[in-house]
Amino acid sequence: MKHSTSTFSHALLVWFRDNQRALPWRSAPAGQRPVYPTWVSEVMLQQTQVSTVIPYFEKWMQRFPTLQAVARATQSDILKAWEGLGYYRRARLLHKAAQQVLNDHAGDIPENYQDLKHLAGLGEYTAAAIASLCFNEAVIAADANVKRVASRLFCLETLTAKHIAATLQPHQPAAQAGLFNEALIELGALICSAKMPQCQACPVQDFCQAYQTNKVEAYPIIKKRKAVPTLERYALIYRQDGAIWLEQRPDDAMLGGLWGFPLSEVRPEGAALTKVKHAYSHFKIEVIPVQVEQKLTQKGAMIAMDRLEHYALSSLDHKILAVLQL
Ligand code: SF4
Repeated sequence: MKHSTSTFSHALLVWFRDNQRALPWRSAPAGQRPVYPTWVSEVMLQQTQVSTVIPYFEKWMQRFPTLQAVARATQSDILKAWEGLGYYRRARLLHKAAQQVLNDHAGDIPENYQDLKHLAGLGEYTAAAIASLCFNEAVIAADANVKRVASRLFCLETLTAKHIAATLQPHQPAAQAGLFNEALIELGALICSAKMPQCQACPVQDFCQAYQTNKVEAYPIIKKRKAVPTLERYALIYRQDGAIWLEQRPDDAMLGGLWGFPLSEVRPEGAALTKVKHAYSHFKIEVIPVQVEQKLTQKGAMIAMDRLEHYALSSLDHKILAVLQL
Protein backbone atom coordinates (compact mmCIF):
# COMPACT_ATOMS: atom_id res chain seq x y z
CA MET A 1 0.00 0.00 0.00
CA LYS A 2 1.39 3.43 -0.95
CA HIS A 3 1.20 6.20 1.63
CA SER A 4 2.49 9.31 -0.09
CA THR A 5 0.03 12.15 0.45
CA SER A 6 1.09 14.07 -2.63
CA THR A 7 0.85 10.96 -4.79
CA PHE A 8 -2.66 10.19 -3.56
CA SER A 9 -3.99 13.66 -4.43
CA HIS A 10 -1.97 13.68 -7.65
CA ALA A 11 -3.53 10.39 -8.80
CA LEU A 12 -6.99 11.69 -7.90
CA LEU A 13 -6.53 15.03 -9.67
CA VAL A 14 -5.07 13.49 -12.84
CA TRP A 15 -8.03 11.12 -13.04
CA PHE A 16 -10.44 14.01 -12.49
CA ARG A 17 -8.79 16.15 -15.16
CA ASP A 18 -9.29 13.35 -17.70
CA ASN A 19 -12.67 11.99 -16.62
CA GLN A 20 -14.84 14.75 -15.15
CA ARG A 21 -18.29 15.20 -16.63
CA ALA A 22 -19.12 18.36 -18.54
CA LEU A 23 -21.93 19.84 -16.43
CA PRO A 24 -23.60 23.20 -17.03
CA TRP A 25 -22.41 24.67 -13.71
CA ARG A 26 -18.79 23.69 -14.42
CA SER A 27 -18.19 26.78 -16.53
CA ALA A 28 -14.71 27.36 -15.10
CA PRO A 29 -12.17 25.17 -13.28
CA ALA A 30 -13.01 24.35 -9.66
CA GLY A 31 -11.47 27.04 -7.48
CA GLN A 32 -12.39 29.84 -9.91
CA ARG A 33 -16.12 29.37 -10.41
CA PRO A 34 -18.63 32.20 -10.41
CA VAL A 35 -20.49 32.13 -7.11
CA TYR A 36 -24.16 32.49 -7.99
CA PRO A 37 -24.49 29.54 -10.43
CA THR A 38 -22.35 27.40 -8.14
CA TRP A 39 -24.63 28.24 -5.23
CA VAL A 40 -27.79 27.42 -7.22
CA SER A 41 -26.35 24.10 -8.44
CA GLU A 42 -25.20 23.06 -4.98
CA VAL A 43 -28.63 23.77 -3.49
CA MET A 44 -30.41 21.93 -6.29
CA LEU A 45 -28.05 18.94 -6.01
CA GLN A 46 -28.90 18.36 -2.35
CA GLN A 47 -30.82 15.06 -2.21
CA THR A 48 -31.30 15.19 -5.99
CA GLN A 49 -29.62 13.42 -8.89
CA VAL A 50 -27.47 15.29 -11.40
CA SER A 51 -29.65 14.22 -14.36
CA THR A 52 -32.76 15.63 -12.65
CA VAL A 53 -31.04 18.88 -11.74
CA ILE A 54 -29.59 19.77 -15.18
CA PRO A 55 -32.84 20.95 -16.89
CA TYR A 56 -33.98 22.76 -13.72
CA PHE A 57 -30.63 24.51 -13.42
CA GLU A 58 -30.68 25.65 -17.05
CA LYS A 59 -34.23 26.96 -16.84
CA TRP A 60 -33.52 28.64 -13.50
CA MET A 61 -30.48 30.50 -14.84
CA GLN A 62 -32.56 31.84 -17.73
CA ARG A 63 -35.42 32.84 -15.45
CA PHE A 64 -33.17 34.27 -12.67
CA PRO A 65 -29.80 35.15 -14.24
CA THR A 66 -28.53 36.93 -11.13
CA LEU A 67 -28.90 36.68 -7.37
CA GLN A 68 -30.59 40.09 -7.49
CA ALA A 69 -33.27 38.61 -9.74
CA VAL A 70 -33.88 35.91 -7.12
CA ALA A 71 -34.07 38.47 -4.32
CA ARG A 72 -36.61 40.59 -6.17
CA ALA A 73 -38.85 37.68 -7.23
CA THR A 74 -41.98 36.77 -5.31
CA GLN A 75 -42.04 33.52 -3.36
CA SER A 76 -44.70 32.24 -5.76
CA ASP A 77 -42.35 32.79 -8.74
CA ILE A 78 -39.53 31.02 -6.90
CA LEU A 79 -41.68 28.01 -6.02
CA LYS A 80 -43.11 27.83 -9.51
CA ALA A 81 -39.59 27.60 -10.98
CA TRP A 82 -38.72 24.93 -8.39
CA GLU A 83 -41.94 22.98 -8.97
CA GLY A 84 -41.26 19.24 -9.26
CA LEU A 85 -37.72 19.39 -7.85
CA GLY A 86 -38.95 18.67 -4.31
CA TYR A 87 -37.58 19.72 -0.91
CA TYR A 88 -39.13 23.14 -1.38
CA ARG A 89 -37.58 24.50 1.80
CA ARG A 90 -34.35 24.76 -0.20
CA ALA A 91 -35.99 27.18 -2.61
CA ARG A 92 -37.53 29.31 0.15
CA LEU A 93 -34.18 29.54 1.94
CA LEU A 94 -32.32 30.41 -1.28
CA HIS A 95 -34.83 33.22 -1.78
CA LYS A 96 -34.31 34.42 1.79
CA ALA A 97 -30.52 34.24 1.48
CA ALA A 98 -30.61 36.26 -1.74
CA GLN A 99 -32.53 38.97 0.11
CA GLN A 100 -30.00 38.79 2.98
CA VAL A 101 -27.13 39.36 0.52
CA LEU A 102 -28.93 42.31 -1.01
CA ASN A 103 -29.97 43.91 2.29
CA ASP A 104 -27.11 43.00 4.65
CA HIS A 105 -24.11 42.68 2.31
CA ALA A 106 -24.82 45.41 -0.26
CA GLY A 107 -25.34 42.73 -2.92
CA ASP A 108 -21.90 41.14 -2.48
CA ILE A 109 -21.92 37.42 -1.72
CA PRO A 110 -19.49 36.67 1.16
CA GLU A 111 -16.23 35.15 -0.04
CA ASN A 112 -15.28 32.82 2.78
CA TYR A 113 -16.61 29.73 4.52
CA GLN A 114 -17.34 31.34 7.90
CA ASP A 115 -19.36 34.24 6.46
CA LEU A 116 -21.15 32.06 3.92
CA LYS A 117 -22.38 29.84 6.76
CA HIS A 118 -24.41 32.77 8.14
CA LEU A 119 -26.64 32.91 5.07
CA ALA A 120 -30.03 31.21 5.20
CA GLY A 121 -29.91 27.58 4.12
CA LEU A 122 -26.12 27.37 3.85
CA GLY A 123 -24.98 24.53 6.07
CA GLU A 124 -21.43 23.30 6.52
CA TYR A 125 -21.37 21.36 3.26
CA THR A 126 -22.78 24.04 0.95
CA ALA A 127 -20.68 26.81 2.51
CA ALA A 128 -17.54 24.66 2.16
CA ALA A 129 -18.42 23.73 -1.42
CA ILE A 130 -18.88 27.38 -2.47
CA ALA A 131 -15.79 28.56 -0.53
CA SER A 132 -13.59 25.92 -2.16
CA LEU A 133 -15.09 25.82 -5.66
CA CYS A 134 -15.29 29.61 -6.05
CA PHE A 135 -12.52 30.99 -3.80
CA ASN A 136 -10.24 27.95 -3.51
CA GLU A 137 -10.48 28.05 0.27
CA ALA A 138 -8.87 24.94 1.81
CA VAL A 139 -11.94 23.49 3.51
CA ILE A 140 -13.36 20.01 2.97
CA ALA A 141 -16.86 19.80 1.47
CA ALA A 142 -18.10 16.47 2.75
CA ASP A 143 -21.26 15.45 0.92
CA ALA A 144 -22.57 11.88 0.92
CA ASN A 145 -20.16 10.94 -1.90
CA VAL A 146 -17.11 12.26 -0.07
CA LYS A 147 -18.15 10.61 3.20
CA ARG A 148 -18.49 7.26 1.47
CA VAL A 149 -15.16 7.56 -0.39
CA ALA A 150 -13.32 8.70 2.75
CA SER A 151 -14.81 5.92 4.84
CA ARG A 152 -13.43 3.34 2.38
CA LEU A 153 -10.11 5.04 1.70
CA PHE A 154 -9.27 5.30 5.40
CA CYS A 155 -11.50 2.60 6.91
CA LEU A 156 -13.31 5.25 8.96
CA GLU A 157 -15.97 4.22 11.42
CA THR A 158 -16.99 7.76 12.40
CA LEU A 159 -18.43 9.83 9.58
CA THR A 160 -19.01 13.24 11.13
CA ALA A 161 -18.09 16.16 8.89
CA LYS A 162 -15.44 17.16 11.43
CA HIS A 163 -13.76 13.75 11.43
CA ILE A 164 -13.85 13.51 7.63
CA ALA A 165 -12.36 17.00 7.33
CA ALA A 166 -9.56 16.20 9.80
CA THR A 167 -8.76 13.02 7.83
CA LEU A 168 -8.83 14.57 4.36
CA GLN A 169 -7.35 18.01 5.01
CA PRO A 170 -3.70 16.82 5.16
CA HIS A 171 -4.17 15.48 1.61
CA GLN A 172 -5.83 18.63 0.19
CA PRO A 173 -3.35 20.65 -1.89
CA ALA A 174 -3.70 24.32 -0.93
CA ALA A 175 -3.40 25.50 -4.54
CA GLN A 176 -6.07 23.06 -5.74
CA ALA A 177 -8.44 22.91 -2.79
CA GLY A 178 -11.61 23.22 -4.88
CA LEU A 179 -10.40 20.72 -7.46
CA PHE A 180 -9.59 18.21 -4.72
CA ASN A 181 -13.13 18.45 -3.29
CA GLU A 182 -14.79 18.18 -6.67
CA ALA A 183 -12.56 15.26 -7.67
CA LEU A 184 -13.57 13.35 -4.54
CA ILE A 185 -17.26 14.08 -5.19
CA GLU A 186 -16.84 12.91 -8.79
CA LEU A 187 -14.98 9.77 -7.74
CA GLY A 188 -17.88 8.92 -5.44
CA ALA A 189 -20.42 9.60 -8.19
CA LEU A 190 -18.64 7.72 -11.00
CA ILE A 191 -16.39 5.06 -9.48
CA CYS A 192 -16.74 4.59 -5.73
CA SER A 193 -20.51 4.28 -5.84
CA ALA A 194 -22.68 3.15 -2.96
CA LYS A 195 -23.67 -0.26 -4.27
CA MET A 196 -21.14 -1.30 -6.92
CA PRO A 197 -17.77 0.42 -6.46
CA GLN A 198 -15.57 -0.13 -9.53
CA CYS A 199 -12.34 -0.69 -7.68
CA GLN A 200 -10.61 -2.10 -10.76
CA ALA A 201 -11.01 1.24 -12.51
CA CYS A 202 -10.26 3.35 -9.43
CA PRO A 203 -7.35 5.81 -9.68
CA VAL A 204 -6.64 5.66 -5.94
CA GLN A 205 -6.92 1.91 -5.49
CA ASP A 206 -3.28 1.73 -4.30
CA PHE A 207 -4.09 4.11 -1.44
CA CYS A 208 -7.42 2.64 -0.42
CA GLN A 209 -7.24 0.88 2.92
CA ALA A 210 -10.58 -0.90 2.47
CA TYR A 211 -9.57 -2.25 -0.94
CA GLN A 212 -6.09 -3.25 0.17
CA THR A 213 -7.48 -5.15 3.16
CA ASN A 214 -10.39 -6.64 1.22
CA LYS A 215 -13.03 -4.84 3.29
CA VAL A 216 -14.73 -2.62 0.71
CA GLU A 217 -18.14 -4.09 1.48
CA ALA A 218 -17.77 -3.27 5.18
CA TYR A 219 -17.60 0.51 4.51
CA PRO A 220 -19.29 2.84 5.07
CA ILE A 221 -20.79 1.38 8.24
CA ILE A 222 -24.50 2.00 7.84
CA LYS A 223 -26.94 2.10 10.73
CA LYS A 224 -30.13 0.18 10.19
CA ARG A 225 -32.84 2.47 8.85
CA LYS A 226 -36.17 2.75 10.61
CA ALA A 227 -39.11 1.42 8.65
CA VAL A 228 -40.79 4.20 6.61
CA PRO A 229 -44.40 4.76 7.80
CA THR A 230 -47.31 5.09 5.37
CA LEU A 231 -49.90 7.79 6.07
CA GLU A 232 -53.46 7.56 4.80
CA ARG A 233 -55.29 10.77 3.98
CA TYR A 234 -58.29 12.07 2.03
CA ALA A 235 -57.98 14.94 -0.45
CA LEU A 236 -61.02 17.22 -0.48
CA ILE A 237 -62.02 17.97 -4.06
CA TYR A 238 -64.49 20.82 -4.38
CA ARG A 239 -65.26 22.02 -7.92
CA GLN A 240 -67.65 24.66 -9.17
CA ASP A 241 -68.08 26.64 -12.39
CA GLY A 242 -64.75 25.65 -13.93
CA ALA A 243 -62.81 26.39 -10.74
CA ILE A 244 -61.35 24.23 -8.00
CA TRP A 245 -60.70 24.83 -4.29
CA LEU A 246 -57.02 24.81 -3.30
CA GLU A 247 -55.20 25.99 -0.19
CA GLN A 248 -51.72 27.45 0.13
CA ARG A 249 -49.66 25.52 2.68
CA PRO A 250 -48.15 27.66 5.48
CA ASP A 251 -44.46 28.53 5.08
CA ASP A 252 -43.42 26.51 8.12
CA ALA A 253 -45.36 23.39 7.06
CA MET A 254 -44.16 20.62 4.80
CA LEU A 255 -44.42 21.77 1.14
CA GLY A 256 -44.69 25.29 2.62
CA GLY A 257 -45.78 27.98 0.17
CA LEU A 258 -47.11 25.46 -2.37
CA TRP A 259 -50.75 25.20 -3.33
CA GLY A 260 -52.60 21.92 -2.97
CA PHE A 261 -55.77 20.09 -2.12
CA PRO A 262 -56.83 20.22 1.54
CA LEU A 263 -55.98 16.90 3.20
CA SER A 264 -58.00 15.27 5.95
CA GLU A 265 -57.40 12.29 8.22
CA VAL A 266 -61.17 11.78 8.40
CA ARG A 267 -63.08 10.48 5.44
CA PRO A 268 -65.55 13.13 4.23
CA GLU A 269 -68.85 12.33 2.56
CA GLY A 270 -68.68 12.17 -1.20
CA ALA A 271 -67.66 10.08 -4.17
CA ALA A 272 -64.19 8.56 -3.83
CA LEU A 273 -61.78 8.50 -6.78
CA THR A 274 -58.70 6.42 -7.53
CA LYS A 275 -56.15 6.28 -4.73
CA VAL A 276 -52.90 8.20 -5.29
CA LYS A 277 -49.59 7.09 -3.80
CA HIS A 278 -46.49 9.19 -3.24
CA ALA A 279 -43.21 8.63 -1.40
CA TYR A 280 -41.18 11.21 0.51
CA SER A 281 -37.81 10.55 2.14
CA HIS A 282 -39.23 9.81 5.59
CA PHE A 283 -42.73 8.54 4.88
CA LYS A 284 -45.10 7.37 2.21
CA ILE A 285 -48.58 8.70 1.72
CA GLU A 286 -51.70 7.21 0.18
CA VAL A 287 -54.41 9.69 -0.67
CA ILE A 288 -58.00 9.02 -1.70
CA PRO A 289 -59.46 12.05 -3.51
CA VAL A 290 -63.11 12.58 -2.47
CA GLN A 291 -65.47 14.89 -4.37
CA VAL A 292 -67.21 16.96 -1.69
CA GLU A 293 -70.27 19.21 -1.91
CA GLN A 294 -68.92 22.02 0.29
CA LYS A 295 -65.52 23.64 0.74
CA LEU A 296 -65.02 22.12 4.24
CA THR A 297 -61.90 24.22 4.92
CA GLN A 298 -61.65 27.88 5.86
CA LYS A 299 -58.43 28.91 4.15
CA GLY A 300 -58.07 28.63 0.41
CA ALA A 301 -59.26 30.01 -2.88
CA MET A 302 -61.33 28.96 -5.85
CA ILE A 303 -58.86 28.80 -8.72
CA ALA A 304 -59.99 28.73 -12.32
CA MET A 305 -58.81 25.51 -13.95
CA ASP A 306 -57.25 27.39 -16.86
CA ARG A 307 -55.14 29.41 -14.38
CA LEU A 308 -53.77 26.38 -12.53
CA GLU A 309 -50.52 26.39 -14.49
CA HIS A 310 -49.56 29.65 -12.76
CA TYR A 311 -49.63 28.04 -9.31
CA ALA A 312 -46.82 25.93 -7.85
CA LEU A 313 -48.16 22.53 -6.81
CA SER A 314 -46.37 19.56 -5.25
CA SER A 315 -45.88 16.31 -7.17
CA LEU A 316 -48.54 14.71 -4.96
CA ASP A 317 -51.08 17.37 -5.95
CA HIS A 318 -50.17 16.96 -9.61
CA LYS A 319 -50.88 13.24 -9.27
CA ILE A 320 -54.30 14.05 -7.76
CA LEU A 321 -54.98 16.46 -10.63
CA ALA A 322 -54.13 13.69 -13.07
CA VAL A 323 -56.75 11.47 -11.41
CA LEU A 324 -59.27 14.27 -11.86
CA GLN A 325 -58.15 14.44 -15.50
CA LEU A 326 -57.70 18.19 -15.41
FE1 SF4 B 1 -13.69 3.13 -3.59
FE2 SF4 B 1 -12.73 0.83 -4.48
FE3 SF4 B 1 -11.52 3.13 -5.08
FE4 SF4 B 1 -11.43 2.19 -2.62
S1 SF4 B 1 -10.53 1.24 -4.43
S2 SF4 B 1 -11.82 4.32 -3.22
S3 SF4 B 1 -13.45 1.29 -2.42
S4 SF4 B 1 -13.58 2.47 -5.72
